[in-house]
Amino acid sequence: MEKIISLTKRRGFIFQSSEIYGGFGSCYDFGPLGAEMKNNIKKAWWNEMTKNQENVVGLDSAILMSPQVWQASGHLTAGFADELVECKKCHKRFRLDELKEKKCPECKGDLTEAKKFNLMMKTFVGSLENEAATTYLRAETCQGIYLNFLNVLNSMRLKIPFGIAQIGKAFRNEITPGNFIYRTREFEQMEMQWFCNPKAADKFFDYWKKARMDWYLKLGMKKENLRFREVEKADLAHYAKRAVDIEYNFPFGWKEIEGIHNRGDWDLSNHAKHSKQDLRYFDEEAKEKYYPYIIETSAGADRSFLTFLVDAYSETKGGRTKTTESTKEVELTLKLDKSLAPVKIAVFPLVKNKEQLVKKAKELFSLLKTRFVCQYDEVGSIGRRYRRQDEIGTIFCLTVDFESLEKDDVTVRDRDTMKQERVKVEELTEFFNQKINT
Ligand code: ATP
Repeated sequence: MEKIISLTKRRGFIFQSSEIYGGFGSCYDFGPLGAEMKNNIKKAWWNEMTKNQENVVGLDSAILMSPQVWQASGHLTAGFADELVECKKCHKRFRLDELKEKKCPECKGDLTEAKKFNLMMKTFVGSLENEAATTYLRAETCQGIYLNFLNVLNSMRLKIPFGIAQIGKAFRNEITPGNFIYRTREFEQMEMQWFCNPKAADKFFDYWKKARMDWYLKLGMKKENLRFREVEKADLAHYAKRAVDIEYNFPFGWKEIEGIHNRGDWDLSNHAKHSKQDLRYFDEEAKEKYYPYIIETSAGADRSFLTFLVDAYSETKGGRTKTTESTKEVELTLKLDKSLAPVKIAVFPLVKNKEQLVKKAKELFSLLKTRFVCQYDEVGSIGRRYRRQDEIGTIFCLTVDFESLEKDDVTVRDRDTMKQERVKVEELTEFFNQKINT
């Protein structure tokens, strides 16, 4: 993890938030390459969950909602609170369920009785800071979907089964954030809620469970690093009838990256009760009204980011590129899927002190960068430049050499196979269109 964290900072993927002020607890900023890669992850998820599915539509609902939402959802009452104990000596707080003994894990001091601590982040709307003006930053994106169930159903003239997908920020005042961006207090979720007939819920649960695992595999994640974990009845969240986690084998152990839940009619029936609106669905064929069951797939964009990064990170001792300067070093390659890699093509002139080579390379860079995310680099030996690109997962490196000036072609080197081939300049755009194809 330390190596990965240092790579992400050094190469502009992730910075600590408010770094010049000494950092701000478990908040992170995505740098230029991180922002590209995170957008790529969200795009891959969005395409998979809307374009590639039948009957799933998108939504982008507000972060701030009526505080009644959180009464109805159970976040302010049941479940969404961790039991905390405080050390009487050092005053640090710990989650009761994470303690191995009844002593402070840091200073061995005595602990207080356990108290519930709500994870919702409070804020005030308007000019008064009183109870009436209190609301919360959403702790999950799905509530905005339930509130819009009827709006989407009616405006889009849908019939169940159908799904609503949403990507957006969520906030939780986590007691034990950590493991870099694995658990933070501000994060992005990618959630899809599937509304179906209660009788079909088990079937669809299995469908989405498989579909979600396939998504990670399709994007190149190693099979042996992924597994399902059925959540035991006693550990189910207050809304869930059944839950399966997709877990990843991180350097810090097997951990959840996504949850697939059968939420039954908990959400719609509770929102109906609190809002006094009829949120049932009228089934024209069966001529009956009922609350659809909801199958939820809930993933984190930041957590997926970390997972793809960890899975793609690869070291080669003695050098992959076999340049003389690299044979004693360890070379890093991010073997990210083509669709996720932040930079698709790097453009190099063979040497920087030959005007014609630089001119041609810059022309090609200008041409290609309107279609693909590209970098131009003329500093150092070609070997070093390859390695700088491998480290950030760039898929192709293109070099303009002396032959290019005569034959109007360039060398294209593939990150994974390391194969080099000559491609005519006039065919370059089409070549990359076909190879990168995202
Ligand atoms: P955990 O047990 O890790 O706290 P959870 O069971 O509370 O997670 P859910 O409420 O099911 O998580 O949220 C669904 C997904 O949202 C998680 O699988 C994860 O990818 C993401 N997520 C949840 N909490 C965080 C967080 N604090 N930081 C980053 N991502 C998160």
